[in-house]
Amino acid sequence: MIVKENEALAPLTTLGVGGRARWFAEAVTEADVVEAAGWARTRGVSLFVLGGGSNVLISDAGFDGMTLQIKTRGVGTEDACGVRFYRVAAGEDWDDFVSRAVAENCAGIECLAGIPGTVGGTPVQNVGAYGQEVASVVERVRAFDLERREFVELPAEDCGFSYRRSRFNSDDRARFVVTRVDYRLHRGGSPTIAYPDVQRALCERERAAGKPGLADVADAVRRIRRLKGMLKVEGDPDCRSAGSFFKNPVITAERCGEIAARGAPPPSFAAGPGLVKVPAAWLIEQAGFAKGYSLGAAGISSRHTLALVNRGGGSAAEILSLAGEISARVEERFGIRLEMEPVKIGF
Ligand SMILES: Cc1cc2nc3c(=O)[nH]c(=O)nc-3n(C[C@H](O)[C@H](O)[C@H](O)COP(=O)(O)OP(=O)(O)OC[C@H]3O[C@@H](n4cnc5c(N)ncnc54)[C@H](O)[C@@H]3O)c2cc1C
Repeated sequence: MIVKENEALAPLTTLGVGGRARWFAEAVTEADVVEAAGWARTRGVSLFVLGGGSNVLISDAGFDGMTLQIKTRGVGTEDACGVRFYRVAAGEDWDDFVSRAVAENCAGIECLAGIPGTVGGTPVQNVGAYGQEVASVVERVRAFDLERREFVELPAEDCGFSYRRSRFNSDDRARFVVTRVDYRLHRGGSPTIAYPDVQRALCERERAAGKPGLADVADAVRRIRRLKGMLKVEGDPDCRSAGSFFKNPVITAERCGEIAARGAPPPSFAAGPGLVKVPAAWLIEQAGFAKGYSLGAAGISSRHTLALVNRGGGSAAEILSLAGEISARVEERFGIRLEMEPVKIGF
């Protein structure tokens, strides 16, 4: 393992802002992870684990510790009773893995096509889109436990999954280095077509050919993402983002009714007894922000209100000040405090 000093982090992230890592290394094996953990521990510095950099906001001052980027590779499979178990190294590209599963006719993640980042990043915020989330297909997560200094294999029920949340980004944040994720997919299973967006995007040709297959749905999801600037496309300024910048807030149905009584009723989705989830994008638009809005080099994507973008040469401070302006206005208008989705590093 080679430890570099003062490595620029911005180019390793999709937002492209932030300073340098005081120390930086790549882990291509599990042994590298153990070595890096020991290196950081003996020097008394903290360890930040970086995947594809698609869900982080790095501070302009950088990270004054060891940044370890996970680059482990490899995919193993095992079949049993209509199920294919995939054992996937954390450094594998998530979207490549989705493409492989779809090509092998395995259902369960086709709606998660086009999400940037690594396999190791997926259990951290329980990635989800268009009616699927990884929590429903994760069998177990293998990780190095920095506290106990040993590898552990956590079954899905021990991962604390809920909406955009797991123990890895909440109670046990910065405790585990994920090195492998095992998924349980259904061989020959039908695709999930739960969202109207996806139904609409399945074009005539696909409908005429009969029941849409997994590849049709994955392609449709990528097309929708591309239209919204939520697909990483070289040269597309709207995808210089960290995806959705805010989580969709969960509020009581009563509160939602009060908001509706004051004007336009918000779109809402059931989120447990007496609770509804309200699209943050709707709240932001109602609070007076339009797609394409700018504040310095930070802006709202011209194709998706929920994505804050770096228009070029921007800083973390500029992104945060735009986020602050948006949150303040949403709170003032609706009394709802938006929660940021990307992870803040080095603040
Ligand atoms: C254009 C765009 C669209 C997006 N769309 C979606 C979407 O539809 N749904 C969705 O849920 N997300 C979406 N995202 C967010 C992001 O892609 C996911 O959260 C992704 O899983 C992050 O993975 P990563 O490898 O890039 O993690 P990073 O950004 O590198 O890290 C994110 C967090 O995970 C931790 N982490 C990463 N890898 C490991 C590991 N191996 N072990 C321990 N901790 C680790 C990091 O320490 C950090 O706290 C989108 C992002 C972009 C830029």
